[in-house]
Amino acid sequence: MKIFNTLSGRKEEFVPLEPGKVKMYVCGPTVYNFIHIGNARPMIVFDTIRRYLEYKGYDVNFVSNFTDVDDKIIKKAMEEGVDSSEISERYIAECRADMEAMNVRPATIHPKATQEIDGMIDLIDTLVRGGHAYRAEDGTVYFRTSSFKEYGKLSHKNLDELQSGFRELKVTGEEGKESPSDFVLWKPKKEGEPYWESPWCEGRPGWHIECSAMSRRYLGEQIDIHGGGEDLIFPHHENEIAQSEAASGKEFARYWMHNGFLNIDNKKMSKSLGNFFTVREISEKFDLQVLRFFMLSAHYRSPLNFSAELMEASKNGLERIHNGLDKLRELEEKAGEEELLEREKVPYEESRQLVAKYEAAMEDDFNTADAVSAVFELVKLGNSTADGESSRAYVKALRETLERLCGVLGIVTERKKEVLDEEVEELIAARTQARKDRNFALADEIRQKLSDMGILLEDTREGVKWKRA
Ligand code: AMP
Ligand code: ZN
Repeated sequence: MKIFNTLSGRKEEFVPLEPGKVKMYVCGPTVYNFIHIGNARPMIVFDTIRRYLEYKGYDVNFVSNFTDVDDKIIKKAMEEGVDSSEISERYIAECRADMEAMNVRPATIHPKATQEIDGMIDLIDTLVRGGHAYRAEDGTVYFRTSSFKEYGKLSHKNLDELQSGFRELKVTGEEGKESPSDFVLWKPKKEGEPYWESPWCEGRPGWHIECSAMSRRYLGEQIDIHGGGEDLIFPHHENEIAQSEAASGKEFARYWMHNGFLNIDNKKMSKSLGNFFTVREISEKFDLQVLRFFMLSAHYRSPLNFSAELMEASKNGLERIHNGLDKLRELEEKAGEEELLEREKVPYEESRQLVAKYEAAMEDDFNTADAVSAVFELVKLGNSTADGESSRAYVKALRETLERLCGVLGIVTERKKEVLDEEVEELIAARTQARKDRNFALADEIRQKLSDMGILLEDTREGVKWKRA
């Protein structure tokens, strides 16, 4: 199996640290809002990679954090006049709901930064004692980049260039730095912000130290795969390497994997351009299975353009797979002959070759685009060779293969059950009652449940109207 390693800039054979086991860490979202479809890309990509590794028999220990202390969270908490934990807990719950709807399995563990402060303080302490970090007068602790000779090795930047680049960029409040490329490990508290005791000052951790500390606690000093979006290569992952390797003296992660960016209408997705969608918004128009299928239609390292047309095409593609499976299931039930027929031997062999093609694609740096086309070829094979005369052995083999290959991609092969009108009416009545009782949390929950069932609501003067998505 080959993996493109950002560190070396080429594809490398995958050799885990311990045979049969994979330790994997993927940087998770900062939880101050609903996740957007850009955040969904690494979730879907790394969930698929994890599924494939498990399919190959590896025991995968997968850790992904929630950043629940951050300027944006604190700002939102201040705006709403609530505690910042209320904001982060709310959006962690929403993120988990979106993940479930995209069939992204929960990680083995999802640590939260605020629960891991001790580990971060311990790591910073090791760095300070080793001369890799220092405390400035105001209590801020910085990482001393000049103490880590390999700084820049991931992003292929050189420290001198970096320092001259940074010189222009004076950050207010960071005057205590020895060098412009040094970065914050711990910062003093500000009025009204959450803070923790530490040997340096009352304050909170910088962002980068979070992942180094959590990865160390749950996976140990060395891991196999570290992943995230390509925007994290510099400075976040570069800084993680510096912190972890300066502290342990060992190589932190063997393979660094980065997904390409998701753009909208060929432009960078951004709030200011107004071309910005949350996963929740997309769920009002499409089943999130379609979003997942769309993401897998491209190689994970390529940039991917989001558009309504491409989503429609993915919806149709998914429908083709479901129709193919429906047909096979029906034929399997009706089949008269049990054993494989003579005329089925060649197409059966072709189906085995398609499995090999699928695996070869996935083993070439997880080329899901080619794996998906092998799945389509299998559907086509079923459509053209399976009929009322087919043996049960043949249609069953095709059905099971298709289900298994789809399952590894996280594509749900069971159709959603038909939603009955009465069921919808009952839920709408319960929501109306919840609103009368001013129980808005329950009302929102019911609206979400309906949305997951593919039912869209519109509140009008004449009452609630609904339609199927
Ligand atoms: P953040 O909450 O901004 O730290 O992002 C969480 C994850 O989403 C990181 O791995 C980012 O690299 C990734 N990410 C953010 N925006 C995009 C995008 N437009 N396309 C792909 N990945 C993204
Ligand atoms: Zn990280």
